[in-house]
Amino acid sequence: MILDKNAFGIWSFIAKRAFKSTFLRPDSDSKQEWIRNSFNKTEIGIYLHIPFCKSLCPACPYVKILWNEQLANNYLDALKKEIKIYGKSLNGLGLKVVSIHAGGGTPSLLNPGQYKDILDTLNQYFEVDAKSGFGMEANPQDMTKEKAFGFVEAGINELSIGVQSFHRKNLKTLGRTHSVEDSLEAIVNARGAGFKLINIDLMYMLPGQTIDEWIQDLEIASEQDVEEVTTYPLLVTHFVPIYQRFKADSLGSQPSKRVFKRMFYTTFDVLEGAGYKPLELYGFSRTSEKYATVNLEMEGPLLGFGCGAAGFTGSYEYQNTCSVKEYIRSTLNGKLPIAGERSVDVKERIIRWVVSRLFVGKGFDLCDFEREFGGKFSDKIGEFGKVLKILRFFRIIRTDRERLELTKKGLFSANLLTWSFVLHVPCTLAGKYSETPWPPKVVIP
Ligand code: SF4
Repeated sequence: MILDKNAFGIWSFIAKRAFKSTFLRPDSDSKQEWIRNSFNKTEIGIYLHIPFCKSLCPACPYVKILWNEQLANNYLDALKKEIKIYGKSLNGLGLKVVSIHAGGGTPSLLNPGQYKDILDTLNQYFEVDAKSGFGMEANPQDMTKEKAFGFVEAGINELSIGVQSFHRKNLKTLGRTHSVEDSLEAIVNARGAGFKLINIDLMYMLPGQTIDEWIQDLEIASEQDVEEVTTYPLLVTHFVPIYQRFKADSLGSQPSKRVFKRMFYTTFDVLEGAGYKPLELYGFSRTSEKYATVNLEMEGPLLGFGCGAAGFTGSYEYQNTCSVKEYIRSTLNGKLPIAGERSVDVKERIIRWVVSRLFVGKGFDLCDFEREFGGKFSDKIGEFGKVLKILRFFRIIRTDRERLELTKKGLFSANLLTWSFVLHVPCTLAGKYSETPWPPKVVIP
């Protein structure tokens, strides 16, 4: 089987219905006023997209480009300019940055001094909370002792290392250029450098991967000195090279749906047995702190800077152009690089909040909902209440007067809905915006 957008049955139908949206190309700079008036809270997250990679992996759906030093320098100038434009136009709103995350691409390709520069720019134009986490995704090959210390000195305090697998053959299938030894060394170097939180990413549902191999990966991960382990299935979008290889049958197939389910529940057994608590469906932690900004992506406010970055302020959602050259040109000319935008009404905001708390975070207290939306859950949930009733009928969720949460059976259903959403919404959005830099209209899914 191929874990693509057609593999999720009813969950694809629900994801498509719940997250249908249309992005339009902005026609003037009036968007700055629109953005200014759209924040629903003052504590915000910031996402920085660093699109450069030393080589391009065949399954990668992200916005990326091959490393080129000159282009990277121009890109950083544009990134700082974009921060400055937003900072000036949002001045006076009392916004406070509580979380920063650099993703990519391969953010660890930049040098520590470049991050210091970015952080100085952020501090110049925004109020950055002294306690805010600054997380960066890293390729194991970049995490030498010297660079790890440099990143910490530059102000990065959380690190997510893209280990993916402790099996050489799986790294080869994924087209990764790092080795198992690189990963182990990167973890030791990061720990020694003093990062306050280290996460490692692992992937399952790889072609030819067995359950025993997956268990070994989880066991090796849990023997490392890391606070968090995040697990992802290999999702296949139709615009990546690995899709053609699956179609041509040159790679074998991904494990079956039955194995998918076993791998998913085994992940809980192994990691919980090793002292990790599931903070969400795919993220397990030994502390109560959590790397990443998934709630902010769904609930806002999150400002996304960089080519291909997306932002959501609470009632305004935008997508930056996915062309690195157009991003640089537009931003250095003083124009926000927004290629598509849309407004988000309170009905959709409620669905996003419920979905991210229930299906990713596993449940929520009704009083939290009432505090957020100022009214009773049953009065506010609207049409989406019918979907929740069906889920309750099938014992995927359970409710009482105080809480709504997933059942054990519901965990796997939520997992299917989550990955179906990822394929149908952000991956489709990135795919469509990668076809052309400034499309007039993009309809999702
Ligand atoms: S998977 Fe990561 S390293 Fe590979 S091309 Fe994509 S962003 Fe770059």
